[in-house]
Amino acid sequence: MRVLLVEDDQAIATPLVRGLEREGFHVRHCDRGGDALAALDDEASDVVLLDLGLPDVDGFDLCREVRARSDVPIIVVTARGDEVDRVVGLELGADDYVVKPFGLRELVARIRAVSRRAMVRPESDDEAGRLHVDRRTRRVVVDGAEVSLTPKEFDLLALLADDPGAVYGRQQILDEVWDPHWYGPTKTLDVHIGSLRRKLGDARWIETVRGVGYRLGEDGARV
Ligand code: CA
Repeated sequence: MRVLLVEDDQAIATPLVRGLEREGFHVRHCDRGGDALAALDDEASDVVLLDLGLPDVDGFDLCREVRARSDVPIIVVTARGDEVDRVVGLELGADDYVVKPFGLRELVARIRAVSRRAMVRPESDDEAGRLHVDRRTRRVVVDGAEVSLTPKEFDLLALLADDPGAVYGRQQILDEVWDPHWYGPTKTLDVHIGSLRRKLGDARWIETVRGVGYRLGEDGARV
């Protein structure tokens, strides 16, 4: 598995590269945001580890730019826990985050988790009215127009589309789409639901079941 590490602090990067390589990852390391974008265009990566504090570019802008160019899973590395709200709140398109200092074992587990979720799942297509979720190609089409989703948004929609009309509880969604060990703010789910509704163009696609969770709207699907 190929990891693109974007980290300007050598004291962190050097042992991290060594540790990840020991775990069997192929690591490409950049210490500048500009280099990271060039590397991204240059060769495919399976996951991007992105430090938000970089000398040449704003980490938030870089994260958005990476997401605009690629569906590669992004794990944001932040120096402070209070940045986490911004990470999820700004809809940067990141899949997960770790707060420094973090352990190698924790990081490896998160890399494996996001790349597992990003893998193509060979399942049959879903037809829910005019909403089409193709798990094989990870494409979503509404009324014949393709909708560009982040990996998380796709996973969330694909879960709801497994059983249109069935209610999925908030914790169940967090467990299946994020991670059973997700200890982040649950408002992350609301943020993703909100952006998914906007992108699908009609809030009725995803119905809120008050006090329980969400479901793919069957009525909305038939409109
Ligand atoms: Ca830094």
